[in-house]
Amino acid sequence: MKITPRLSLILAASAFTGAPAFATPFSVSDAPGRLPKNVIPESYSVTVEPDAAAMTIKGRESIVLQVRSATTTIQFNSLNETLSDVRLDGKAVLKVASDDDAQLTTVTIASPVTVGTHTLSFSYAGKIETQPHGLFAQPYVSPDGKQGVLLTTQMESTDARRMFPCWDEPAFRAKFRLSATVPAEWSLVSNMPVVKRVVKAKLATTTFEATPRMPSYLVELTAGEIAEISAKNEGIDFGVWAVKGREKEGAIALANVQTILADYNDYFGYKFPLPKLDSIAIPGGFQGAMENWGAITYNDQLLLLSAASSIKNRQEAYSVQAHEMAHQWNGDLVTMAWWDDIWLNESFASWMAAKETDRRHPDWKWWEDQDADKEDAMGADARATSHSIQQHVTNELQAANSFDPQITYSKGQAILRMFEAYLGPDVFRDGIREYIKAFAFSNATTSNLWNALSAASKQDIGAIVAGWTEQAGFPLVSVAASCDATGVRTITLSQQRFLLQGIDAANSSWKVPLQIRAGADAAPQAVLLTQDKQSAPAGRCDEPLSVNAGALGFYRTHYDAATLATDTKNFGMLKDTDRIALLDDQWALVESGVDTLPTYLALAGAMGKDVDTRAWHQIAHALASIEYDERGSPGHEAFAAYARNVLRPPFEQLGWSAKADETPDVQDLRQTLIQELGSLGDEGVIDEARKRFAAFVKDHSAIPPDYQASILKIVAQYADAATFAQLRAVAAAAKDETEFRRYYSALMAVRDPALAKEATEIALSPQIPAQADALRLELIAQLAGEHQQLSWQVFRDNNERLLKPFAFDGPLIVAQYLPQAYWSGIPAAEIEAWVRAHVPKEMGPNVDRGMETVRFRLAEKDRLVRAADAFDHQ
Ligand SMILES: [Zn+2]
Repeated sequence: MKITPRLSLILAASAFTGAPAFATPFSVSDAPGRLPKNVIPESYSVTVEPDAAAMTIKGRESIVLQVRSATTTIQFNSLNETLSDVRLDGKAVLKVASDDDAQLTTVTIASPVTVGTHTLSFSYAGKIETQPHGLFAQPYVSPDGKQGVLLTTQMESTDARRMFPCWDEPAFRAKFRLSATVPAEWSLVSNMPVVKRVVKAKLATTTFEATPRMPSYLVELTAGEIAEISAKNEGIDFGVWAVKGREKEGAIALANVQTILADYNDYFGYKFPLPKLDSIAIPGGFQGAMENWGAITYNDQLLLLSAASSIKNRQEAYSVQAHEMAHQWNGDLVTMAWWDDIWLNESFASWMAAKETDRRHPDWKWWEDQDADKEDAMGADARATSHSIQQHVTNELQAANSFDPQITYSKGQAILRMFEAYLGPDVFRDGIREYIKAFAFSNATTSNLWNALSAASKQDIGAIVAGWTEQAGFPLVSVAASCDATGVRTITLSQQRFLLQGIDAANSSWKVPLQIRAGADAAPQAVLLTQDKQSAPAGRCDEPLSVNAGALGFYRTHYDAATLATDTKNFGMLKDTDRIALLDDQWALVESGVDTLPTYLALAGAMGKDVDTRAWHQIAHALASIEYDERGSPGHEAFAAYARNVLRPPFEQLGWSAKADETPDVQDLRQTLIQELGSLGDEGVIDEARKRFAAFVKDHSAIPPDYQASILKIVAQYADAATFAQLRAVAAAAKDETEFRRYYSALMAVRDPALAKEATEIALSPQIPAQADALRLELIAQLAGEHQQLSWQVFRDNNERLLKPFAFDGPLIVAQYLPQAYWSGIPAAEIEAWVRAHVPKEMGPNVDRGMETVRFRLAEKDRLVRAADAFDHQ
């Protein structure tokens, strides 16, 4: 989908003519941060000897410093380290004081150090962590069943200081030369290629080439019994590393990394500047992926693909690789000045990844898929307690919490996409190229990016975008149409902040880049909404209308009744994206009580047999949520029957079996419809799922990987003890990790209360190996859907163990997400009291967000049940 924006008159009137200030070089003195700026590191030489058995680090460090004003103290970050033999320019210093609470070491020198270059050197003793903070040990079971352990790092945001004392703030870019001494049979990977390896008895010391100037949070070191597959392309060495024996599962990732790198070299107009790029699969505990420059680490589930992998696994691998690789430019080559601007890294990488995934896999309909994430972000951002994309960060906890997936990633991605469409993709790319060129090997702020885009587009982009990144929330755009005697339509537009519980009368406003399409097929017109009651021409009154054409906007639309009726009547002829936007918005209006349930159900009913995947996902989600709310009400069965009737036509169109020429999104839709119809009690679907499962038990190839999750889940939902035992045996016998995760997840759909209890025991049992520890929380959370009390009890009794693998975002999960999992069965006050007692006090605003959603869901349930019961189900 491509949209050429035509700039409105309003926009032309505010054309930006200011001088481009984006090229002003970044100065470290201007960066926020806690460390003094009078002493700046230039280069580090760090030698570590980790002892995996004792979980300790012996280190030696030498740092070349630039002293910018005479001083008798030098201050830098350290945590859990003891320094000894501390010298400046070879001479012993007067005093060394390390404070683990402040995460600082202060070195005092007898007489003032002069301005200029000096060298600080010391030895230190530190520790290897058990969680992904700094250098940590990751136990795993190898493919041949052996217990192993590898050492690897996770430094972002503020944990490089746990591996070696350093200036651990993003503005302090420096060169890092790393050496590590480990058992001789181990292999090592770091940011740069190996330059030297010296073997002494059972140990080997490996030295890596010095990195370019970069922030400490990008330093990487992995060591263990690992192996790689490799390729060389355009002068760059690519490696995919995994635990020995699994490296061949990196073949698709190795192909992906080369495709993506070539695309990004072109897009950024700046060639990847390092000589090599490794992708490293870390078993188990480490969640997600990390963009360490030249040495990206991934949870192995995100990088390795086997015959058991589904299309969803392949999509996830490509899009996560595309995300981490976008950071190699935006994040690594150009770094945010301080954690306030982490959104610059994350929103950009998320947007770029979606763009790249869509480009290389058009049949995945990736932007439509991403619409679900945008909706999730809008759900979070519609809270009165939401926060802005740009947030002030003053300490380590806030830095960690600023990685809010819904706002920092998904909302930011959507905002960038909205403005890319508004400026046009070429102008937007030109601005990005200028920005990268101007700030390469340096740091930058949000305003530097807006200035570059302003220069490229010759308009003041900062003034338009600020409302989207500096204030929380988004607008509801109301559309009132009037028709003249010949049927020509003019619309009058107004905006108010949209909230979960309705609209906010207070005075927030945005400059809204609308895409207006009048008629089903016309090209959209870009209009910038800047004033209340602004009017715009909008085709003819008998034509359908979208003011969010392409579903590109991060706003909701409320059409007047007559316009909505015209859109509903013509729903079948709208473009997929415009239908999706209308379904999204109308459902949100119903949820918040702004509009009535029949207005949404009329749209869902108008889909007929059309097989647009995202539209049906949206509908299936809405129907499932009403059905869930209706449970225990007299109207439940009538509503479930109605929902089955809505979902059957597209399923009958698709049937059970994949056709040869089907695209992945159609297969995805089939799986969704099977799962939802099964969940809604469709007898035909349940019977067929059981038959297929019986064949699968004898021969696993009877159900292809893509369909296993939905079919096994239906079987588990309605399982008796004997069937549950069969499912359990299938999971226990799975050798491949992708498979066993899929099978154990399916078990958690069980509805029978006694079997659910058994499911919780499985989730906590050693059947789940060490590297899948993080799965346990997911499994217990899945059980919450059907068994609120049981899941809540098990979670509380085991919370420390369940949360242990989530070292980085654990507090955010508890504060913001946990309440939403238990809203329907646990009293709000009980959830709130528990959560507040289990997160740091300063996370109060995060708890408020979680609890606002709980209270909204309770009020919504009340509204939906009444509306669904009153609805004529014919
Ligand atoms: Zn990222």
